[in-house]
Amino acid sequence: MKDYKKILLSRIDLKILYLIIIILFSILTFRTVHYIRQVPLINKAIIYQSYNTSSKNLGSLNMGDRVTVLSTKYHWKKVKTSEGEVGWIQDWNFQQQNKITSLSDATIVIDAGHGGSDSGALSRTNKNEKTYTLIYAKKLAERLRKAGAMVYMTRDDDSFVSLNSRPQLAENLHADAFISIHFDSAPENNMGSGYTTYYYHKKTSLRLAQDINSKLKYLKLENRGVEFGDFLVIRENTVPAVLLEMGYINSDRDFERITSTSYQDSVADDIKQGLDTYFNQN
Ligand SMILES: [Zn+2]
Repeated sequence: MKDYKKILLSRIDLKILYLIIIILFSILTFRTVHYIRQVPLINKAIIYQSYNTSSKNLGSLNMGDRVTVLSTKYHWKKVKTSEGEVGWIQDWNFQQQNKITSLSDATIVIDAGHGGSDSGALSRTNKNEKTYTLIYAKKLAERLRKAGAMVYMTRDDDSFVSLNSRPQLAENLHADAFISIHFDSAPENNMGSGYTTYYYHKKTSLRLAQDINSKLKYLKLENRGVEFGDFLVIRENTVPAVLLEMGYINSDRDFERITSTSYQDSVADDIKQGLDTYFNQN
């Protein structure tokens, strides 16, 4: 009788022991999976309420802190901290940055050439290049925003912006594309005609230039194609960057096109389509 009791007890003990082992193992597995799913920050970073630096600042995390990534948008990751706080952090604070495969997820800097005291080239009627670069930049921005892209402009009024600060903005934002808009000028009036797509860095920017240029058609001006161009705003640029010369401002024929609404709209539509193609192939 005594032995029977002993055996029964030890069987119960064994069952409890198994149960404890299973519980411990489950906790360990859960914690390990949770830890693996978390990613560490490679910088000290601020947590924002939304994917925008102008949204509410919820605090900051240190380099090495681990978070769970819930979703991504533009160059932002929605995260949950170890304390359970949810917010957005810019993706360059992580080893793995977001892959941008559509225009609707892209961050784009549009650069209206010249501005303020820098009027750019002149038409034969003394109209300033800076006026038209801004018109085109705004039309393009409107279309890209409609497509869902995050758009920044180096200027959106007639103010002076230094050359260096233009690519700097793209670098600071880790933009996916930088589009600079200009108009050519030939040494003599009515000597040059047509539009050209320039790139500087073959590795980062040639494909962008090709994708945009291939959509610039039916513009009733000669497409002078894709060319290498040594312009500061695309040369000193760390992101894919192109500079578009959309016609010769001191050519009467080109200037008529440049100032026509239908040409302006076509150019903006075509650049948008080129960007569509570019991001879909990313
Ligand atoms: Zn210019």
